[in-house]
Amino acid sequence: MVCGGGPAGCAAAVQAARLGLRTLLLESTANLGGMGTSAYVSQWSHCANGEHPVIGGFILELIEDLFRRGHLQPGVTEERWTRDYNRGFGFDPEALKRLLDEKCLDAGVEIRFFSRIVDAEVDPKQKTIQGLITHDVEGLRFIPARTVIDATGDAVVADAAAIPYEQAGRETQHIMPPTLCGLVGDVDFTSFDRRRDQEAALEKALDENFFSQPDRHVPGLFRAGETHGTLNAGHLFKTDAVSTQSLSQALIKGRKLAEEYTDFHRNYLSGCEKARLLTTGHLLGVRESRRVVGEYSLNIDDYLARRTFPDQIAIYCKQVDIHVYDLSEEEYQRYHEEFNNPKRLLQPGEYFGVPYRILVPQGWKNLWVAGRCASTDVKVNGSLRDQPACSMMGQAAGAAAFLALRDKQDAPSLDTEHLRKLLREHQANLP
Ligand SMILES: Cc1cc2nc3c(=O)[nH]c(=O)nc-3n(C[C@H](O)[C@H](O)[C@H](O)COP(=O)(O)OP(=O)(O)OC[C@H]3O[C@@H](n4cnc5c(N)ncnc54)[C@H](O)[C@@H]3O)c2cc1C
Repeated sequence: MVCGGGPAGCAAAVQAARLGLRTLLLESTANLGGMGTSAYVSQWSHCANGEHPVIGGFILELIEDLFRRGHLQPGVTEERWTRDYNRGFGFDPEALKRLLDEKCLDAGVEIRFFSRIVDAEVDPKQKTIQGLITHDVEGLRFIPARTVIDATGDAVVADAAAIPYEQAGRETQHIMPPTLCGLVGDVDFTSFDRRRDQEAALEKALDENFFSQPDRHVPGLFRAGETHGTLNAGHLFKTDAVSTQSLSQALIKGRKLAEEYTDFHRNYLSGCEKARLLTTGHLLGVRESRRVVGEYSLNIDDYLARRTFPDQIAIYCKQVDIHVYDLSEEEYQRYHEEFNNPKRLLQPGEYFGVPYRILVPQGWKNLWVAGRCASTDVKVNGSLRDQPACSMMGQAAGAAAFLALRDKQDAPSLDTEHLRKLLREHQANLP
Protein backbone atom coordinates (compact mmCIF):
# COMPACT_ATOMS: atom_id res chain seq x y z
CA MET A 1 0.00 0.00 0.00
CA VAL A 2 1.44 3.32 -1.07
CA CYS A 3 0.24 6.38 0.83
CA GLY A 4 0.41 9.66 -1.08
CA GLY A 5 0.65 10.10 -4.85
CA GLY A 6 3.43 12.71 -5.10
CA PRO A 7 6.81 12.16 -6.80
CA ALA A 8 7.83 9.57 -4.19
CA GLY A 9 4.50 7.74 -4.02
CA CYS A 10 3.96 7.45 -7.77
CA ALA A 11 7.46 6.06 -8.31
CA ALA A 12 6.99 3.60 -5.44
CA ALA A 13 3.62 2.38 -6.68
CA VAL A 14 4.67 1.97 -10.31
CA GLN A 15 7.88 0.14 -9.35
CA ALA A 16 6.07 -2.22 -6.96
CA ALA A 17 3.33 -2.97 -9.50
CA ARG A 18 5.82 -3.53 -12.34
CA LEU A 19 7.48 -6.13 -10.15
CA GLY A 20 4.15 -7.89 -9.81
CA LEU A 21 2.85 -6.72 -6.43
CA ARG A 22 -0.84 -6.00 -6.05
CA THR A 23 -0.52 -2.28 -5.36
CA LEU A 24 -2.95 0.25 -4.01
CA LEU A 25 -2.12 3.97 -4.22
CA LEU A 26 -4.06 6.19 -1.83
CA GLU A 27 -4.18 9.92 -2.54
CA SER A 28 -6.18 12.50 -0.63
CA THR A 29 -6.56 14.95 -3.54
CA ALA A 30 -8.10 14.41 -6.98
CA ASN A 31 -4.86 13.84 -8.93
CA LEU A 32 -1.35 12.47 -8.79
CA GLY A 33 1.86 14.52 -8.77
CA GLY A 34 1.83 15.99 -5.24
CA MET A 35 3.50 19.38 -4.97
CA GLY A 36 4.49 19.27 -8.66
CA THR A 37 0.85 19.44 -9.78
CA SER A 38 -1.38 20.26 -6.81
CA ALA A 39 0.85 23.03 -5.46
CA TYR A 40 2.13 24.27 -8.86
CA VAL A 41 5.74 23.60 -7.93
CA SER A 42 6.05 22.61 -11.57
CA GLN A 43 9.85 22.64 -11.75
CA TRP A 44 12.26 19.74 -11.59
CA SER A 45 15.53 20.62 -9.90
CA HIS A 46 18.96 19.49 -11.01
CA CYS A 47 18.98 16.20 -12.87
CA ALA A 48 22.64 16.43 -13.99
CA ASN A 49 25.82 17.74 -12.37
CA GLY A 50 27.63 19.51 -15.21
CA GLU A 51 29.27 16.32 -16.43
CA HIS A 52 26.73 13.50 -16.32
CA PRO A 53 23.15 12.74 -15.26
CA VAL A 54 22.49 11.97 -11.60
CA ILE A 55 18.97 10.74 -12.16
CA GLY A 56 17.66 7.52 -13.64
CA GLY A 57 14.68 5.17 -13.50
CA PHE A 58 11.11 6.38 -13.24
CA ILE A 59 11.83 10.13 -13.04
CA LEU A 60 13.94 9.93 -16.21
CA GLU A 61 11.11 8.07 -17.93
CA LEU A 62 8.65 10.85 -17.00
CA ILE A 63 10.98 13.58 -18.23
CA GLU A 64 11.64 11.85 -21.55
CA ASP A 65 7.93 11.16 -22.12
CA LEU A 66 6.93 14.77 -21.38
CA PHE A 67 9.76 15.99 -23.63
CA ARG A 68 8.61 13.78 -26.52
CA ARG A 69 5.04 15.04 -26.07
CA GLY A 70 6.14 18.70 -25.99
CA HIS A 71 5.19 19.35 -22.36
CA LEU A 72 8.50 20.56 -20.96
CA GLN A 73 9.50 24.22 -20.64
CA PRO A 74 9.86 25.58 -24.19
CA GLY A 75 13.47 25.62 -25.37
CA VAL A 76 14.71 23.00 -22.90
CA THR A 77 16.67 20.18 -24.52
CA GLU A 78 18.12 16.85 -23.34
CA GLU A 79 21.27 18.68 -22.18
CA ARG A 80 19.27 19.91 -19.20
CA TRP A 81 18.92 16.46 -17.63
CA THR A 82 21.98 14.76 -19.07
CA ARG A 83 24.75 17.35 -18.62
CA ASP A 84 23.83 20.89 -17.48
CA TYR A 85 25.16 22.29 -14.23
CA ASN A 86 23.03 23.78 -11.46
CA ARG A 87 19.85 24.15 -13.51
CA GLY A 88 16.27 22.97 -13.19
CA PHE A 89 13.44 23.17 -15.71
CA GLY A 90 9.69 23.53 -15.88
CA PHE A 91 6.94 21.16 -16.98
CA ASP A 92 3.24 21.37 -17.71
CA PRO A 93 1.48 20.22 -14.51
CA GLU A 94 -1.71 19.17 -16.31
CA ALA A 95 0.29 16.94 -18.68
CA LEU A 96 2.12 15.37 -15.74
CA LYS A 97 -1.20 14.50 -14.07
CA ARG A 98 -2.33 12.61 -17.19
CA LEU A 99 1.03 10.89 -17.64
CA LEU A 100 1.06 9.66 -14.03
CA ASP A 101 -2.50 8.28 -14.37
CA GLU A 102 -1.32 6.46 -17.49
CA LYS A 103 1.88 5.07 -15.93
CA CYS A 104 0.03 3.79 -12.87
CA LEU A 105 -2.76 2.17 -14.88
CA ASP A 106 -0.30 0.57 -17.33
CA ALA A 107 1.65 -0.90 -14.42
CA GLY A 108 -1.54 -2.24 -12.81
CA VAL A 109 -1.66 0.13 -9.81
CA GLU A 110 -5.13 0.65 -8.34
CA ILE A 111 -5.44 4.40 -7.71
CA ARG A 112 -7.90 5.67 -5.12
CA PHE A 113 -8.43 9.44 -5.08
CA PHE A 114 -10.04 11.36 -2.23
CA SER A 115 -8.66 8.66 0.07
CA ARG A 116 -7.15 10.27 3.15
CA ILE A 117 -5.21 8.11 5.57
CA VAL A 118 -6.45 8.96 9.03
CA ASP A 119 -5.03 6.21 11.23
CA ALA A 120 -2.97 3.02 11.29
CA GLU A 121 -3.43 -0.39 12.85
CA VAL A 122 -0.04 -1.38 14.24
CA ASP A 123 1.65 -4.03 16.32
CA PRO A 124 4.04 -1.82 18.31
CA LYS A 125 5.94 -4.79 19.80
CA GLN A 126 6.55 -6.43 16.44
CA LYS A 127 6.99 -3.02 14.84
CA THR A 128 4.69 -3.86 11.96
CA ILE A 129 1.82 -2.05 10.29
CA GLN A 130 -1.23 -4.26 9.76
CA GLY A 131 -3.35 -1.85 7.82
CA LEU A 132 -4.61 1.68 7.50
CA ILE A 133 -7.83 3.48 8.19
CA THR A 134 -8.83 5.84 5.42
CA HIS A 135 -11.61 8.30 4.82
CA ASP A 136 -12.95 8.41 1.26
CA VAL A 137 -16.16 9.37 -0.51
CA GLU A 138 -17.87 6.27 0.86
CA GLY A 139 -16.84 6.88 4.48
CA LEU A 140 -14.30 5.31 6.78
CA ARG A 141 -12.70 1.98 5.92
CA PHE A 142 -9.97 -0.33 7.14
CA ILE A 143 -7.57 -1.62 4.48
CA PRO A 144 -5.19 -4.41 5.48
CA ALA A 145 -1.68 -4.27 4.01
CA ARG A 146 1.37 -6.52 3.96
CA THR A 147 3.79 -3.69 3.23
CA VAL A 148 3.27 0.07 3.51
CA ILE A 149 5.13 3.00 1.99
CA ASP A 150 4.58 6.38 3.60
CA ALA A 151 5.04 8.97 0.85
CA THR A 152 2.67 11.57 2.26
CA GLY A 153 5.35 14.28 2.62
CA ASP A 154 4.09 14.88 6.18
CA ALA A 155 4.82 11.32 7.42
CA VAL A 156 1.14 10.75 8.14
CA VAL A 157 1.49 6.97 8.58
CA ALA A 158 4.52 7.30 10.83
CA ASP A 159 2.64 9.85 12.92
CA ALA A 160 -0.42 7.60 13.19
CA ALA A 161 1.82 4.68 14.20
CA ALA A 162 3.55 6.82 16.87
CA ILE A 163 6.93 6.34 15.16
CA PRO A 164 9.49 8.93 16.27
CA TYR A 165 10.15 11.85 13.95
CA GLU A 166 11.71 15.27 14.01
CA GLN A 167 9.45 18.16 13.28
CA ALA A 168 10.16 21.61 11.92
CA GLY A 169 9.94 24.16 14.71
CA ARG A 170 10.19 21.58 17.46
CA GLU A 171 13.92 21.03 18.07
CA THR A 172 14.70 24.64 17.20
CA GLN A 173 12.45 27.65 16.81
CA HIS A 174 13.02 27.54 13.08
CA ILE A 175 10.49 26.43 10.46
CA MET A 176 11.43 26.87 6.85
CA PRO A 177 8.49 28.90 5.52
CA PRO A 178 6.15 27.47 2.90
CA THR A 179 4.96 29.38 -0.16
CA LEU A 180 1.60 29.20 -1.90
CA CYS A 181 2.70 28.93 -5.52
CA GLY A 182 0.51 29.64 -8.53
CA LEU A 183 0.29 29.86 -12.29
CA VAL A 184 0.76 33.24 -13.98
CA GLY A 185 -0.40 33.68 -17.58
CA ASP A 186 0.02 36.16 -20.43
CA VAL A 187 3.77 36.56 -19.95
CA ASP A 188 5.93 37.50 -22.93
CA PHE A 189 8.93 35.26 -22.41
CA THR A 190 10.77 36.79 -25.35
CA SER A 191 11.41 39.84 -23.16
CA PHE A 192 10.99 38.49 -19.60
CA ASP A 193 14.32 37.44 -18.08
CA ARG A 194 14.20 36.58 -14.39
CA ARG A 195 17.94 36.07 -13.99
CA ARG A 196 18.76 39.37 -15.68
CA ASP A 197 16.08 41.69 -14.28
CA GLN A 198 14.57 40.40 -11.07
CA GLU A 199 17.15 41.58 -8.56
CA ALA A 200 17.10 45.22 -9.64
CA ALA A 201 13.30 45.19 -9.92
CA LEU A 202 13.01 43.79 -6.42
CA GLU A 203 15.35 46.46 -4.97
CA LYS A 204 13.32 49.19 -6.66
CA ALA A 205 9.99 47.80 -5.42
CA LEU A 206 11.35 47.42 -1.88
CA ASP A 207 12.63 51.03 -1.95
CA GLU A 208 9.18 52.15 -3.03
CA ASN A 209 7.50 50.18 -0.20
CA PHE A 210 5.54 48.15 -2.73
CA PHE A 211 5.19 44.99 -0.64
CA SER A 212 3.05 44.31 2.42
CA GLN A 213 5.92 42.05 3.57
CA PRO A 214 9.37 43.37 2.59
CA ASP A 215 11.05 40.05 1.73
CA ARG A 216 14.38 40.13 -0.13
CA HIS A 217 14.33 36.39 -0.88
CA VAL A 218 12.09 35.78 -3.89
CA PRO A 219 12.68 32.71 -6.09
CA GLY A 220 10.39 34.27 -8.76
CA LEU A 221 8.51 33.38 -11.91
CA PHE A 222 9.67 30.28 -13.83
CA ARG A 223 8.65 29.50 -17.36
CA ALA A 224 6.44 26.42 -17.70
CA GLY A 225 4.72 26.89 -21.09
CA GLU A 226 4.52 29.27 -24.08
CA THR A 227 3.00 32.17 -22.14
CA HIS A 228 2.61 30.94 -18.58
CA GLY A 229 4.94 30.29 -15.69
CA THR A 230 4.88 29.09 -12.11
CA LEU A 231 5.13 31.77 -9.47
CA ASN A 232 7.17 30.85 -6.40
CA ALA A 233 7.09 34.01 -4.29
CA GLY A 234 5.92 35.05 -0.83
CA HIS A 235 7.19 33.27 2.28
CA LEU A 236 4.58 32.31 4.87
CA PHE A 237 6.74 32.64 7.96
CA LYS A 238 6.14 30.61 11.12
CA THR A 239 3.61 28.28 9.48
CA ASP A 240 3.24 24.87 11.07
CA ALA A 241 2.16 22.73 8.11
CA VAL A 242 0.74 20.00 10.35
CA SER A 243 -1.52 22.33 12.35
CA THR A 244 -4.92 22.85 10.69
CA GLN A 245 -5.27 26.37 12.04
CA SER A 246 -1.80 27.47 10.98
CA LEU A 247 -2.16 25.82 7.55
CA SER A 248 -5.49 27.55 6.93
CA GLN A 249 -4.16 30.97 7.88
CA ALA A 250 -1.16 30.42 5.60
CA LEU A 251 -3.38 29.56 2.61
CA ILE A 252 -5.45 32.72 3.10
CA LYS A 253 -2.37 34.92 3.37
CA GLY A 254 -0.68 33.01 0.52
CA ARG A 255 -3.50 33.85 -1.89
CA LYS A 256 -3.04 37.57 -1.12
CA LEU A 257 0.72 37.36 -1.54
CA ALA A 258 0.39 35.52 -4.87
CA GLU A 259 -1.74 38.38 -6.21
CA GLU A 260 0.71 40.94 -4.79
CA TYR A 261 3.72 39.27 -6.46
CA THR A 262 1.82 39.09 -9.75
CA ASP A 263 1.23 42.87 -9.44
CA PHE A 264 4.94 43.27 -8.73
CA HIS A 265 5.80 41.44 -11.95
CA ARG A 266 3.27 43.48 -13.93
CA ASN A 267 4.61 46.78 -12.56
CA TYR A 268 8.35 46.18 -12.46
CA LEU A 269 9.39 43.49 -14.93
CA SER A 270 9.47 43.71 -18.70
CA GLY A 271 7.50 41.03 -20.50
CA CYS A 272 4.99 40.91 -17.62
CA GLU A 273 2.93 44.00 -18.49
CA LYS A 274 -0.16 41.85 -19.12
CA ALA A 275 0.62 39.11 -16.59
CA ARG A 276 -2.29 37.80 -14.52
CA LEU A 277 -2.64 35.24 -11.80
CA LEU A 278 -4.51 32.25 -13.24
CA THR A 279 -4.73 30.12 -10.11
CA THR A 280 -2.99 29.22 -6.87
CA GLY A 281 -2.24 25.71 -5.63
CA HIS A 282 -4.86 23.66 -3.82
CA LEU A 283 -2.01 22.32 -1.68
CA LEU A 284 0.24 24.68 0.22
CA GLY A 285 3.88 24.48 -0.94
CA VAL A 286 5.32 22.98 2.23
CA ARG A 287 9.12 22.86 2.39
CA GLU A 288 9.43 21.00 5.66
CA SER A 289 7.26 19.36 8.29
CA ARG A 290 8.14 15.91 9.70
CA ARG A 291 11.27 13.81 9.11
CA VAL A 292 11.07 10.23 10.37
CA VAL A 293 13.90 8.86 12.51
CA GLY A 294 15.29 6.08 10.38
CA GLU A 295 17.94 3.39 10.52
CA TYR A 296 20.28 6.15 9.36
CA SER A 297 19.87 9.91 9.14
CA LEU A 298 21.67 11.51 6.21
CA ASN A 299 23.37 14.61 7.58
CA ILE A 300 25.21 17.73 6.49
CA ASP A 301 28.63 16.15 7.12
CA ASP A 302 27.76 13.38 4.65
CA TYR A 303 26.74 16.02 2.14
CA LEU A 304 29.86 18.16 2.67
CA ALA A 305 32.08 15.08 2.32
CA ARG A 306 30.16 14.05 -0.84
CA ARG A 307 29.94 10.69 0.94
CA THR A 308 28.86 7.56 -0.89
CA PHE A 309 27.45 4.43 0.76
CA PRO A 310 27.55 0.70 0.07
CA ASP A 311 23.73 0.58 0.31
CA GLN A 312 23.04 3.68 -1.76
CA ILE A 313 19.87 3.60 -3.82
CA ALA A 314 20.37 6.94 -5.60
CA ILE A 315 22.82 9.78 -6.08
CA TYR A 316 21.97 13.46 -6.07
CA CYS A 317 23.59 16.85 -6.62
CA LYS A 318 21.28 19.73 -5.64
CA GLN A 319 22.82 22.19 -3.21
CA VAL A 320 21.32 22.59 0.26
CA ASP A 321 18.73 25.35 0.09
CA ILE A 322 17.38 26.57 3.43
CA HIS A 323 15.18 29.61 2.84
CA VAL A 324 15.20 32.58 5.24
CA TYR A 325 13.45 31.84 8.52
CA ASP A 326 12.38 35.46 9.01
CA LEU A 327 12.83 38.95 7.57
CA SER A 328 15.90 39.88 9.63
CA GLU A 329 19.14 41.11 8.03
CA GLU A 330 21.03 38.25 9.75
CA GLU A 331 18.81 35.69 8.01
CA TYR A 332 19.44 37.13 4.54
CA GLN A 333 23.14 37.10 5.29
CA ARG A 334 22.94 33.51 6.56
CA TYR A 335 21.05 32.46 3.45
CA HIS A 336 23.52 34.06 1.04
CA GLU A 337 26.57 32.74 2.87
CA GLU A 338 25.13 29.21 2.93
CA PHE A 339 23.71 29.16 -0.56
CA ASN A 340 26.75 30.65 -2.27
CA ASN A 341 29.34 28.87 -0.12
CA PRO A 342 31.64 27.01 -2.57
CA LYS A 343 32.01 24.13 -0.08
CA ARG A 344 28.25 23.63 -0.10
CA LEU A 345 27.72 24.13 -3.81
CA LEU A 346 28.50 20.79 -5.40
CA GLN A 347 31.07 21.35 -8.14
CA PRO A 348 30.74 19.98 -11.69
CA GLY A 349 30.96 16.19 -11.60
CA GLU A 350 30.18 15.94 -7.86
CA TYR A 351 27.31 14.16 -6.13
CA PHE A 352 26.48 12.54 -2.81
CA GLY A 353 24.96 9.13 -2.09
CA VAL A 354 21.48 8.41 -0.74
CA PRO A 355 21.59 5.31 1.46
CA TYR A 356 18.73 2.80 1.67
CA ARG A 357 18.64 3.06 5.48
CA ILE A 358 17.12 6.56 5.40
CA LEU A 359 13.94 4.96 4.01
CA VAL A 360 13.48 2.61 6.97
CA PRO A 361 11.93 3.87 10.23
CA GLN A 362 14.11 2.52 13.03
CA GLY A 363 13.34 -1.17 13.55
CA TRP A 364 10.07 -1.18 11.58
CA LYS A 365 9.71 -4.33 9.55
CA ASN A 366 7.17 -3.63 6.81
CA LEU A 367 7.16 0.17 6.52
CA TRP A 368 9.27 2.50 4.38
CA VAL A 369 9.22 6.31 4.22
CA ALA A 370 10.14 8.00 0.97
CA GLY A 371 10.34 11.59 -0.22
CA ARG A 372 10.30 14.72 1.90
CA CYS A 373 9.64 12.78 5.14
CA ALA A 374 12.66 10.43 4.81
CA SER A 375 15.32 10.33 7.52
CA THR A 376 17.70 13.27 7.09
CA ASP A 377 18.81 16.23 9.14
CA VAL A 378 17.17 19.52 8.37
CA LYS A 379 20.02 20.72 6.14
CA VAL A 380 20.13 17.68 3.87
CA ASN A 381 16.36 17.83 3.66
CA GLY A 382 17.01 21.18 1.97
CA SER A 383 18.47 19.19 -0.94
CA LEU A 384 16.74 15.79 -0.95
CA ARG A 385 13.23 17.24 -0.74
CA ASP A 386 13.43 18.12 -4.41
CA GLN A 387 11.24 16.09 -6.74
CA PRO A 388 13.87 14.08 -8.67
CA ALA A 389 15.40 12.85 -5.39
CA CYS A 390 11.95 12.09 -3.92
CA SER A 391 11.07 10.06 -7.00
CA MET A 392 14.27 8.01 -6.79
CA MET A 393 13.69 7.32 -3.08
CA GLY A 394 10.15 6.24 -3.89
CA GLN A 395 11.26 3.86 -6.62
CA ALA A 396 13.74 2.26 -4.23
CA ALA A 397 11.05 1.85 -1.55
CA GLY A 398 8.74 0.15 -4.07
CA ALA A 399 11.48 -2.28 -5.08
CA ALA A 400 12.40 -2.90 -1.43
CA ALA A 401 8.79 -3.78 -0.57
CA PHE A 402 8.80 -6.33 -3.39
CA LEU A 403 12.08 -7.94 -2.23
CA ALA A 404 10.95 -7.98 1.39
CA LEU A 405 7.83 -9.95 0.46
CA ARG A 406 9.51 -12.22 -2.05
CA ASP A 407 12.52 -13.07 0.11
CA LYS A 408 10.68 -12.89 3.45
CA GLN A 409 13.03 -10.22 4.82
CA ASP A 410 12.32 -7.34 7.17
CA ALA A 411 12.98 -3.81 5.95
CA PRO A 412 16.00 -3.15 8.23
CA SER A 413 17.79 -6.37 7.25
CA LEU A 414 16.99 -6.32 3.54
CA ASP A 415 19.77 -7.49 1.23
CA THR A 416 20.72 -4.16 -0.33
CA GLU A 417 22.99 -5.73 -2.95
CA HIS A 418 19.89 -7.44 -4.36
CA LEU A 419 18.01 -4.19 -4.14
CA ARG A 420 20.68 -2.26 -6.02
CA LYS A 421 20.85 -4.93 -8.70
CA LEU A 422 17.09 -4.81 -9.13
CA LEU A 423 17.08 -1.00 -9.29
CA ARG A 424 19.79 -1.06 -11.95
CA GLU A 425 17.62 -3.44 -13.99
CA HIS A 426 14.98 -0.72 -13.79
CA GLN A 427 17.36 1.99 -15.09
CA ALA A 428 18.39 3.50 -11.75
CA ASN A 429 21.56 5.58 -11.99
CA LEU A 430 23.90 3.78 -9.58
CA PRO A 431 27.54 4.22 -10.60
C1 LIG B 1 7.54 26.28 -2.65
C2 LIG B 1 8.30 25.07 -3.07
C3 LIG B 1 9.17 25.12 -4.14
C4 LIG B 1 9.83 23.98 -4.57
N1 LIG B 1 10.64 24.03 -5.67
C5 LIG B 1 11.11 22.89 -6.20
C6 LIG B 1 11.81 22.91 -7.42
O1 LIG B 1 12.05 23.95 -8.02
N2 LIG B 1 12.24 21.72 -7.93
C7 LIG B 1 12.00 20.53 -7.30
O2 LIG B 1 12.37 19.48 -7.82
N3 LIG B 1 11.35 20.49 -6.11
C8 LIG B 1 10.91 21.64 -5.55
N4 LIG B 1 10.25 21.62 -4.35
C9 LIG B 1 10.22 20.38 -3.54
C10 LIG B 1 9.18 19.38 -3.94
O3 LIG B 1 8.12 19.89 -4.68
C11 LIG B 1 8.60 18.59 -2.76
O4 LIG B 1 9.44 18.53 -1.66
C12 LIG B 1 8.28 17.19 -3.28
O5 LIG B 1 7.16 17.27 -4.13
C13 LIG B 1 8.03 16.20 -2.18
O6 LIG B 1 7.63 14.99 -2.76
P1 LIG B 1 6.87 13.89 -1.89
O7 LIG B 1 6.46 12.82 -2.82
O8 LIG B 1 7.69 13.56 -0.71
O9 LIG B 1 5.60 14.67 -1.30
P2 LIG B 1 4.47 15.54 -1.98
O10 LIG B 1 4.85 16.08 -3.31
O11 LIG B 1 4.06 16.51 -0.92
O12 LIG B 1 3.30 14.49 -2.21
C14 LIG B 1 2.63 13.93 -1.11
C15 LIG B 1 1.27 13.45 -1.58
O13 LIG B 1 0.62 12.80 -0.47
C16 LIG B 1 -0.71 13.22 -0.39
N5 LIG B 1 -1.13 13.10 1.01
C17 LIG B 1 -0.74 13.85 2.05
N6 LIG B 1 -1.37 13.45 3.18
C18 LIG B 1 -2.15 12.42 2.83
C19 LIG B 1 -3.04 11.56 3.55
N7 LIG B 1 -3.27 11.72 4.87
N8 LIG B 1 -3.70 10.59 2.87
C20 LIG B 1 -3.50 10.42 1.53
N9 LIG B 1 -2.68 11.20 0.80
C21 LIG B 1 -2.01 12.17 1.45
C22 LIG B 1 -0.68 14.66 -0.88
O14 LIG B 1 -1.96 15.09 -1.35
C23 LIG B 1 0.35 14.58 -2.00
O15 LIG B 1 -0.23 14.30 -3.24
C24 LIG B 1 9.62 22.77 -3.87
C25 LIG B 1 8.75 22.70 -2.80
C26 LIG B 1 8.08 23.83 -2.38
C27 LIG B 1 7.14 23.73 -1.26
